[in-house]
Amino acid sequence: MRTRTLDCPTCGTMQIFRILDKEERAAVREEEGPGFFVDNLWRCTGTGCLTYYPQFNKAGYGRLPKKFLAEEAAAGE
Ligand SMILES: [Zn+2]
Repeated sequence: MRTRTLDCPTCGTMQIFRILDKEERAAVREEEGPGFFVDNLWRCTGTGCLTYYPQFNKAGYGRLPKKFLAEEAAAGE
């Protein structure tokens, strides 16, 4: 899994971020429109945090839909 440590605007601290998975990218595209570039989005893995943002553009951050909160639990389904 690709991860990196980035500054999370929601947590207010440095957090481990990982690249969005396929479902997350689809959800963002649904929200932002079909032309939205989703291949370089990173999400915070902090507990209860749904923040994502494009690499090098923290100001362009957004939040994933709540269904992605319980990603660890959902992964086993
Ligand atoms: Zn965060």
